[in-house]
Amino acid sequence: MAYIQFLGAAGTVTGSKHLINTGDPYGKNGFQALVDCGLFQGQKDWRERNWRHTPVPAKEIDAVILTHAHLDHCGWIPRLVKEGFRGPIYATQPTIDLCGIILPDSGHLQEEDANFYNKGKKSKHDPALPLYTFEEAQASLQYFKSVQVGQTIQLSPELSFRFVRAAHILGSCMAEVSLNFGTKKRRLLFTGDIGRVIDHKFAPGKVVHSGPQEGEVADLVVMESTYGNRAHPKEDPLPELASLITTTARRGGSVVVPAFAIERTQKFVFILKHLMESGQIPRVPVFCDSPMAIKAVEIFLKHDEEYSNETREMIRKYGSPLEWPGFTFASTPEESKKINAVLTPVVIISSSGMVTGGRILHHLAQRLPDPKNLVLFIGFQAPGTRGSAIKSGSKEVKIYGDYVAIRAQVAALEQFSDHADPPELLQWLRTFRNRPGSTYLVHGEPDASSQLREAMTKELGWTVEVAQYLEKVELN
Ligand SMILES: [Zn+2]
Repeated sequence: MAYIQFLGAAGTVTGSKHLINTGDPYGKNGFQALVDCGLFQGQKDWRERNWRHTPVPAKEIDAVILTHAHLDHCGWIPRLVKEGFRGPIYATQPTIDLCGIILPDSGHLQEEDANFYNKGKKSKHDPALPLYTFEEAQASLQYFKSVQVGQTIQLSPELSFRFVRAAHILGSCMAEVSLNFGTKKRRLLFTGDIGRVIDHKFAPGKVVHSGPQEGEVADLVVMESTYGNRAHPKEDPLPELASLITTTARRGGSVVVPAFAIERTQKFVFILKHLMESGQIPRVPVFCDSPMAIKAVEIFLKHDEEYSNETREMIRKYGSPLEWPGFTFASTPEESKKINAVLTPVVIISSSGMVTGGRILHHLAQRLPDPKNLVLFIGFQAPGTRGSAIKSGSKEVKIYGDYVAIRAQVAALEQFSDHADPPELLQWLRTFRNRPGSTYLVHGEPDASSQLREAMTKELGWTVEVAQYLEKVELN
């Protein structure tokens, strides 16, 4: 019996992993493909699932189809390989380029976390181990295979897929999967994360193609629901952003922006450049602090086939961010530490975007206690992450084992999101050429998924379920 099974991002926004098993009339397991292979982040009970084996042994999984390069979609790949997976990992070239820097960086962070934990432990027995190391992450890159958008890949006699645009981040795609059982054919659509549907003033700095692929046909849809219970604000955020930065600089404070190192950071530096050039904010020094800062810009500039017209125009006008005066890209730990010594107003953009690790930690440890400073969130903060705690008004946060007082101003601008909100999702779903027999919502907190389910049932008349962790759905 063919089935899909939700091995992650069911009941939560992280750990995306969906197994397709084609079944087998001869009594074997059939072909087994994973759509995405993401890391669980955030709450501890979810993170602990990163240490469990998949229900199907890793070495029995035949292929991975990777929608995009966010860690909650790709970050478990090195672990899958460590556990014995040896098949191809299909992704677009921009996704592969991004994974080439993100996964080793993730391995490095896992090693640092384990070392930090071991230093604080009295006993040398039973040391904490990294989920995977820098080297293991690098070794996993050899299994990646580049796929063009629209190209059909035959995985087995009965299973094939092709990528279509998701408009979420550089290289991001949805996977249209076809399953043939003799005369019966089933079409499955795995959306991965879905980008903003149309260009608006209130979705500024849109980097990639406008809108996900329209006119889809599917029997079964597995769809994200991150923003299922919230519409994005409808105002242009740039005046507010300019005012926040200007006010902070005038009182002698600095702005710290936790942001995913790739794309979100580049999008934001172009916006800062635009605000400076148009005289809307003072020309304070900007630091992009990430071990992959320079490589990230290079990958971003290389894939101009992915750009929206707005991005193309920005790059034509301002050139490479690596050459802008006043913008510094810090790649080494020494360069990163030097930023701590700058006490005049600066803007620091550093990862991780949800403050789960990385260099943002030492910037926040230094600058959170000072009320002159501003911490500005421009991305989704999953419950249980430090980012979520800071954003929701906590008085202190634990960093490197110590409690750090939060006295800095905290602000959030939701308009920079790369996820479609419910009105945008419904607008996209209305372009479908059929009404899918069933839709399963994943990648959402329970409340977000259930509210989106209600909206889809009411507005579209679709049959929609909220996917449960480890739930199996039979396909024939
Ligand atoms: Zn994503």
